[in-house]
Amino acid sequence: MNATQISGSKEPVKGKAWLIGAGPGDVELLTLKAIRALRQVDVALIDDLVNREVLQFLRDGARVLEVGKRGGCRSTPQAFIEKQMIRFARQGLTVARIKGGDPFVFGRGGEELQALQTAGIEVEVVSGITAGIGVPAALGIPVTHRDFSHGVTLVTGHTRSNERPNWHALAHSGTTLVIYMGINALATIAEGLQAAGMPAGTPVAVVQDGTLPSQRSVVTTLDAVVDATAQARIESPAIIVVGAVAR
Ligand code: SAH
Repeated sequence: MNATQISGSKEPVKGKAWLIGAGPGDVELLTLKAIRALRQVDVALIDDLVNREVLQFLRDGARVLEVGKRGGCRSTPQAFIEKQMIRFARQGLTVARIKGGDPFVFGRGGEELQALQTAGIEVEVVSGITAGIGVPAALGIPVTHRDFSHGVTLVTGHTRSNERPNWHALAHSGTTLVIYMGINALATIAEGLQAAGMPAGTPVAVVQDGTLPSQRSVVTTLDAVVDATAQARIESPAIIVVGAVAR
C-alpha cells in the first residue's frame, strides 16, 4: 500500500493536504513555496495567529475556514480539525492548514501529519519562519551571536499543568532562551530562572506582534521583566528572549 491509499481500503485518496507555515506575521516573510501551495488549495483552514493578508494568494473560489487554537480563547478542537482535513481530502480536494510561524514548532503540525498519514492522505509540509527566530531578528537580536551564546533553546512557557520546566537546565544552558506562549506565566518563569541561579541582571526582550505594524517590545532585565512588560502593556502573542543577545 502506498501513502496515498486509505488504510483498510483499496480506494486511492485523490485529495492532498498541505501543512503550511505562514511565518511570524509580516506577509513578506511567506516563502515562495507557501505561495505556490496556497494557489492550489480548495479549502484553507486558517489559524487565528496568521495574518489574513496571506489569503490574497488563494485562488478565486477557495473556501476559508477559521480554526483558532489560541490558549485561553474559544478554539476548534484539534481532533475536529484533523477530521475536517481528512474529510476534504477524501472528497478529492486539496486542503491546507495555514499556521503561524513553522508548522512543527509548537504548532501541532506533528499530530496533524500523523493523523493525515494514518488516514492514507498525501501530505506536504511547508516550513515557515518561526516566531522565535524571525521576531527577535526583526528587532536586530541575533539569537546565536557567538560572542554571547552557544546556541538557542526554543521552549514553551505554557506547560501541561503537572509538568514543571527544568529551570536549572534552562538557567545554565549557556544558550539564548526563546520562550513561546510565556506571557501568562511570566512571573513564574522569571522567578524560576532566578531561583535556579540565573543572574537578576540578565537581559530580556519581550515582543508582541513581532514583524507586524502593531509590534510592541520592551528590553529589560530578568528581575524587572514582569513590571516592564505590564507597563509596556505587552500581551499574548509574545516572544520572550532571555540572554545577553537581547541587550
Ligand atoms: N508555530 C508557531 C508558534 C505557535 S505557538 C511558530 O513557529 O512561530 C504561539 C506562540 O508563538 C505565541 O504565544 C507567541 O509566543 C509566539 N508568536 C507567534 N507569532 C508571534 C509574533 N508575531 N510575535 C510574537 N510572538 C509570536
